[in-house]
Amino acid sequence: MVNRIAIVGAGYAGMAAAVELASRGVAADVFEASRTLGGRARGVEIDGLALDNGAHILVGAYRETLRLMQLVGAPVDALQRQPLHLDFPGQFRLRAPNLPAPWHLAWALATARGLTWPERFAAVRFMRHLKNKRFRLPIDDTVATLLEHQPATLRRLLWGPLCLAALNTPPAEASAQVFAHVLRDSLAARRDASDLLLPRQDLSAVLPEPAARWIEARGGTVRRGQRIGRIAWRDDRYHLDAHGPYDQVIVAVAPQHVVRLIGGLPRLTFVTEALAAFRWQPIVTCYLRYPADVRLPAPMIGVDRGVAQWLFDRGALCGQPGVIAAVISGHGRHDELDADALAATIDGDIRRILPGLPPPAWQRVVAEKRATFACTPGLKRPWVETPLPGLLLAGDYIDGDYPATLEGAARSGVAAALSAYGRIRQPAGRQP
Ligand SMILES: Cc1cc2nc3c(=O)[nH]c(=O)nc-3n(C[C@H](O)[C@H](O)[C@H](O)COP(=O)(O)OP(=O)(O)OC[C@H]3O[C@@H](n4cnc5c(N)ncnc54)[C@H](O)[C@@H]3O)c2cc1C
Repeated sequence: MVNRIAIVGAGYAGMAAAVELASRGVAADVFEASRTLGGRARGVEIDGLALDNGAHILVGAYRETLRLMQLVGAPVDALQRQPLHLDFPGQFRLRAPNLPAPWHLAWALATARGLTWPERFAAVRFMRHLKNKRFRLPIDDTVATLLEHQPATLRRLLWGPLCLAALNTPPAEASAQVFAHVLRDSLAARRDASDLLLPRQDLSAVLPEPAARWIEARGGTVRRGQRIGRIAWRDDRYHLDAHGPYDQVIVAVAPQHVVRLIGGLPRLTFVTEALAAFRWQPIVTCYLRYPADVRLPAPMIGVDRGVAQWLFDRGALCGQPGVIAAVISGHGRHDELDADALAATIDGDIRRILPGLPPPAWQRVVAEKRATFACTPGLKRPWVETPLPGLLLAGDYIDGDYPATLEGAARSGVAAALSAYGRIRQPAGRQP
């Protein structure tokens, strides 16, 4: 009998699952509530400008995301690849040269601007200390504790910004173990794993849209504007509202939407209890449009002691001259500001880097209050497989080495697809 598989959610996790299944000859039906694919990493059009619901960066270590992009024929210029380059103008600059690992990092630290020699040695010692422990910490403490013997400059300009950018959780609350995984797979791995990959197209076009075309060409379906209310078990099959029956379902929605979908099913207490313990972190992106000749010193730069943490030059990246995207991860003083006051404060941050700017002609703030889960020490995260045969979970919150990222989402989707595929090949008992 044909094994019918449904996937709920067309973010990076759901699309990764559907692509992996299609690559093995299994056509799945994807149900997506929105008309736009990509979930939290999707393109949005604002006042005629093709933007994203939040500026994203990828790194060379995102092997599954990059593999899937290649498989489905995503545009080759969708991402701009550049060697690791952290630039806080006037304060700090670290550039990795084209040398094999670990010399790229050694050279980057040795030539970093804004660090004293003792600070450079301290950074090398820190990485060596983690490497000696094989990036496995005896107890999962906070990143702030892990960094307590690091010089203040390194915490402020290197480790702190990397922690907030990768885990979307401030060092005082972030999991040291997950941070160690991120450092292992980026700075301490092959040179190209630390490359920065900056989107040149909107995030729906980077993977979800080409993936949808690829899936549909192989017999799958991607149904937009189809919000599923409940998953039910009747007559030995799963039913998604009036859709179905299905033999297996991959639930690939954001963690805060999982419980509503699976609430009618038995034996999922571990999942619902784990998700109830999650806390959330916001990300705010502010887009500002200046005259077309305004350029940042690099496509992506850091802001030291600003409200914004990172600035992206969308002229250099996406062919939108004069448009700058400013990103703020986590909570902070911006929480108290309305959109106009926030844009004015960020304009002040940009002005410190580019003095004499004319005021922006246009600005918009996109706030994601639940951008990611707070990646805190010892957090219990559900796994792909549930106690219910054929009911699988995928999403950036699934247990794994990574924090909430595109790569975490993609890896979980692939893992869910492999599990579903394994059940097709070896059908097991089917009673929830
Ligand atoms: C502003 C912002 C900036 C970020 N920056 C970065 C970054 O720089 N680098 C990085 O790697 N990661 C970043 N992330 C994290 C990254 O976007 C997420 O980890 C990833 O997109 C999560 O993918 P997902 O598929 O797990 O979930 P989602 O993207 O949330 O996808 C879930 C999908 O399910 C759909 N859905 C929900 N309920 C239903 C339902 N009942 N029926 C049908 N469909 C439903 C939703 O519409 C959505 O499309 C950022 C996130 C945000 C918000």
